[in-house]
Amino acid sequence: MIEFDMGVILLLFVSVPLVVIGVLALAYNIRSMHRPMRIRESIYECTNCSHVYAYARNRPMDRCPRCGHLNEAVRT
Ligand SMILES: [Zn+2]
Repeated sequence: MIEFDMGVILLLFVSVPLVVIGVLALAYNIRSMHRPMRIRESIYECTNCSHVYAYARNRPMDRCPRCGHLNEAVRT
């Protein structure tokens, strides 16, 4: 029978899931980096001056760059 040291077993129980999670996080990061910019940005139409603009931030409301009026996102 193969005998393992308790320290080695503990090290494996901690490091293996950590490596798996690290690899998954890296893969997710690389995948989201290659996503086109158009998918990540929200489109707004100003109700005050009808200026159409887009921001890459995912916020439900943003200020119009022309008049500063707060507008809801038409499409996120
Ligand atoms: Zn405006």
